[in-house]
Amino acid sequence: MVIRKSNRELALMREAGRIVALTHARLKERIEPGLTTAELDSQANEIVAKHGATPSFLRYRGFPASVCVSINEQVVHGIPGPRVLEEGDMVSLDFGAIYQGYHGDAAITVGVGRISEEARRLIETTRGTLEAAIGQATAGNYLGDISWAIQDYAESRGFSVVRQYVGHGIGRNMHEDPQIPNYGQRGRGILLKPGMTFALEPMVNVGTYLTRVLDDGWTVVTEDGELSAHFEHTIAITEGEPEILTLLQEGCDHES
Ligand code: MG
Repeated sequence: MVIRKSNRELALMREAGRIVALTHARLKERIEPGLTTAELDSQANEIVAKHGATPSFLRYRGFPASVCVSINEQVVHGIPGPRVLEEGDMVSLDFGAIYQGYHGDAAITVGVGRISEEARRLIETTRGTLEAAIGQATAGNYLGDISWAIQDYAESRGFSVVRQYVGHGIGRNMHEDPQIPNYGQRGRGILLKPGMTFALEPMVNVGTYLTRVLDDGWTVVTEDGELSAHFEHTIAITEGEPEILTLLQEGCDHES
């Protein structure tokens, strides 16, 4: 069942989303060669604590950290640790926070120093798939319109979309119904209605869409070792344009 949120619930999700967006902005500023991925995780913990929130991912199904940090061929669920970011890497940060019982969830992919043309094009395309998805997230459309838009945008530019991991409803729980595949057909699935809240999160690969999980039990990598990128926003369906809940608004608190 897809839960539609009340205005009070949307207000709490807006605050959760703001904290997530602020954290991403802070982490993005820190990205440079020489930084360890563990430092990103500890900074995220400081920021959410300061804003009265808690990390969504920490201990979720046993995940050992607050931020998923996935580098290059890693798709999602990379575990932060002693690994040092290097010039030319691309790094995906996936982070969620809980504020007064409600979740926000977002992901970005960032280049470290100078990156290859292929990496730059992959990042831009993946960002574009998320924008295309949000463009379909309007009342009266179908869930399949979102899935179709992501697949069409990525594949028409020569990339592939990951099949095995999907977007999701979000609210009191990080993962609620419905599942939102990053591929599909227009006009299929549920009808979108105001008050529905979704985490849209396309993962786009240079090569095959197939993935596998490393021996750590978490880190997902592309099966062919080619690059992967990931962008995510939490959004709300409204009577008009979708509201992006994990967007940093102008003039809001920029202190970390
Ligand atoms: Mg998510």
